[in-house]
Amino acid sequence: MEVACRRQALALAAHLLAEHLNADTSDDIGPWRPCDHCGGPARYAGRHAKTFTTALGALTLTRAYYHCAACNQGGCPRDQALGLDGGSLSPAVTRMVGTAALVSFAESSELLAALAGLAVEAKQVERTAEALGQAITVDERQQVVPAPAAELAPTMYLGLDGTGVPMRQTEVAGRPGKQADGSSKTREVKLCTVWSAEGRDEDGVPVRDAGSVSYSAAIESAATRDTDQTCSAFAQRVEREASRRGFDRAPRRAVLGDGAPWIWNIAGEYFPAAIQIVDRFHAKEHLSAVAKLLYGAPSDLGDAWATARHAELDAGQLHQIVAALRAQYRARRHAVTRTEVRKCIGYLWANRRRMRYPTFRAQGLCTSTAVVEAGCKVAIGTRLKRAGMHWTVRGANAIIALRCCKLSGRFEDFWERRVEHRAAS
Ligand SMILES: [Zn+2]
Repeated sequence: MEVACRRQALALAAHLLAEHLNADTSDDIGPWRPCDHCGGPARYAGRHAKTFTTALGALTLTRAYYHCAACNQGGCPRDQALGLDGGSLSPAVTRMVGTAALVSFAESSELLAALAGLAVEAKQVERTAEALGQAITVDERQQVVPAPAAELAPTMYLGLDGTGVPMRQTEVAGRPGKQADGSSKTREVKLCTVWSAEGRDEDGVPVRDAGSVSYSAAIESAATRDTDQTCSAFAQRVEREASRRGFDRAPRRAVLGDGAPWIWNIAGEYFPAAIQIVDRFHAKEHLSAVAKLLYGAPSDLGDAWATARHAELDAGQLHQIVAALRAQYRARRHAVTRTEVRKCIGYLWANRRRMRYPTFRAQGLCTSTAVVEAGCKVAIGTRLKRAGMHWTVRGANAIIALRCCKLSGRFEDFWERRVEHRAAS
């Protein structure tokens, strides 16, 4: 009964709203108006009807239609005034799509039908979500309002990470990758996340402050050549996010990441005063991978070896880890195994200053809350790395922008700016 009543009430409201809007014919401003496309004269060509999907359901509006003979384009000025010029979805439904599109397009379509009684096809969800994401991408570049100094935590963290996202074949053609034939099936999404961790658990370990995490990510280059005048697209993104969150002005700063060189290049160049920390979670993953290579998986011996190395890592005993790896290197004959073991020694050596975990702990610094790793999963993995998904760079970046905006609690602000911008134009 309640669902039936809601449907009736919405249908009645839709009818009243359509009647109200259709009674207003002030959008007919005479036989001519300047063409929106070329500025030439566009001729009045009657009132045209179109059905829109609104929060109240389907709504058929008749609007003054103008046609330009010079460029053979036509349009209804009212659609623009009402925010209906993006297609057949109303602003309220577009906003609902933005909220629903955190799940797959097909699931979003089902959600909209189940919760709001709206018929929006998966393809339409996709188009709308991508258009929103592209608008957010533009907005993100322009909207860099530094956080007020009073809101800065005494210690702020900036995490950088990369994760591969499956691409359509045309998007990776000719790019070198990790496939057996040297080709690539993925592109790397680079993620920047900023958070604070002033809280402590019962053991005195820093805990990430609820609601303090923000994300910004894209498939973007982090490489800068010596000849480049400007810094890489991703470095600029990191700078914007750091500025927005006040990371660049916090009394104490720490950059967390895994061993990837681009991460430490950005950290060193843009935040030279920040403490560099290899995320402990990543470092342990590295050692576990070596254990798997040495002993196979599953293996009790391998588990025991990894557990011992993890404990040494926590205790800051890098020399012990290197000694254990050297012993393995001497004992093994397989070329691949030896190479990987040698690489791991190199990784530990290159990052030794970033792995002084007992020192960091004594300074009250967070060394691994798996925030960065979880960020990659939450912001990227759960949505973009699902089975059977293949993206274009453009599509992936739009959806990543939309997700980061929502997960960072910025969607409402974005929407307000969008409405204001429309009202002004
Ligand atoms: Zn024209």
